[in-house]
Amino acid sequence: MAKDPVCGREVDEKNWLAQGGEKVVHEGETYYFCGLMCKQKFVINPAKYINAPKAE
Ligand SMILES: [Zn+2]
Repeated sequence: MAKDPVCGREVDEKNWLAQGGEKVVHEGETYYFCGLMCKQKFVINPAKYINAPKAE
């Protein structure tokens, strides 16, 4: 399982890719998303989500 960096939801990357979702590689890390909305938000401003403090 991967974690959606935008909303924090758990993402089944195999399922996501099987549905036609795209992964995003940013600075050597691979990210997966729960949906296109989250992916678009991330692509527009990756640093906002990567540097955000982790919510418990
Ligand atoms: Zn999401």
